[in-house]
Amino acid sequence: MTLDTSVREIDNSSPEFRMTLSHDDIPEPPHIEDELREAGLKATPQRLAILGCLEGDESHPTAQELYERVRAEHPTMAFATVYNTLSALTGIGRVRSLTLGGPTRFDPNTASHDHAICDGCGSITDVAARSRRGPAPDGLAGFSINRVERIYRGQCAECANERNV
Ligand SMILES: [Zn+2]
Ligand SMILES: [Zn+2]
Repeated sequence: MTLDTSVREIDNSSPEFRMTLSHDDIPEPPHIEDELREAGLKATPQRLAILGCLEGDESHPTAQELYERVRAEHPTMAFATVYNTLSALTGIGRVRSLTLGGPTRFDPNTASHDHAICDGCGSITDVAARSRRGPAPDGLAGFSINRVERIYRGQCAECANERNV
């Protein structure tokens, strides 16, 4: 836990407030307790840790991966706690679940976006979505489209490099 001493003189907020900031580049998640309450969950330290761990994470972790990460700081964490918290947060639309083949992955980025999957290492990268309003494609007459999810498959830069060595 590191405190930025340079802001101490001008920052009158309580030490507790500043202690909640774990990374300088990640702003404090807005009303994290409220979000858990909205999902019907008590804001326990363990659940706060789960949401905090997922926040800003672009790696699209599985429940198992998240469990292992959170457990490093919370050794008594149960997998069921991680799983149930994730599914409740998904239920209120706070977290998006991705089923791309293999275990379900979780995405804190709920804005419309596409994904690029590397066939080499399995990494999943966010891709900005282009606007896709307009008529349904041929063969989908009468089908009302809510959203389009595009998946790009190939090799990430790292895997492509390795191949060329
Ligand atoms: Zn790769
Ligand atoms: Zn994503």
